[in-house]
Amino acid sequence: MAGSITENLRRIRRAVPEEVTLVAVSKFHPVEALSEAYAAGQRIFGESRALELEAKAAALPGDIEWHFIGHLQTNKVKKVVACAAMIHSVDSPRLLEAIDSEARKTGRRPGVLLQLHVAREENKFGFTPDELLAFVTPELVAAMSGVEFRGVMGMASNVDDETRIRSDFREIRGVFDRLRSTVFADSPAFDTVSMGMSHDWPLAVEEGSTMVRVGTSIFGEREY
Ligand SMILES: *Cc1c(COP(=O)(O)O)cnc(C)c1O
Repeated sequence: MAGSITENLRRIRRAVPEEVTLVAVSKFHPVEALSEAYAAGQRIFGESRALELEAKAAALPGDIEWHFIGHLQTNKVKKVVACAAMIHSVDSPRLLEAIDSEARKTGRRPGVLLQLHVAREENKFGFTPDELLAFVTPELVAAMSGVEFRGVMGMASNVDDETRIRSDFREIRGVFDRLRSTVFADSPAFDTVSMGMSHDWPLAVEEGSTMVRVGTSIFGEREY
């Protein structure tokens, strides 16, 4: 982990399969750190706070694709819809409605990922698999035409037990496959499984991730 941002990015890009999208999670890191990653060719960045996203989007080049990955309160939806191409953390019906409504007003059509809660930890946000499968119907998708449903996002339990981590990832991928073969059978844009972070992305990729969110391994430890 001792390398520069440029070296870290090169190493990770070499390791991540070509068909898997790398989101560089830059939350809490200064604009200069993002500029270094940008100069090294990175164009997709992940942020978890609305104000920080807004400030960084204003300060950095316009061809960056911003992804919002943190828990989003409905009163911050406006800022995030204004900046983000994709929102990974749609964790409630109310939030989805707020994003859809704001998107219609602005004419932007953000991609959304439905966040699943499968991990052991209690304090994580998201739908359980059963909740999500019951919630997502063709009627819902038709009613929420202001957003583009792109897939699902989730996190594995924060444990050392590889078997447990794999089974969490497998569960997330399973819900994605189920939705893709039913509600989204005619929606090729529903193609994204966002799972895997610095410590567990190789397992996530083996279990069917199409998009990894890597922060610490690129930018170093965050200061809170
Ligand atoms: C912070 C964060 C990441 C990145 O975590 P690292 O361990 O630094 O790679 C990924 N996903 C979400 C949702 C995050 O909040």
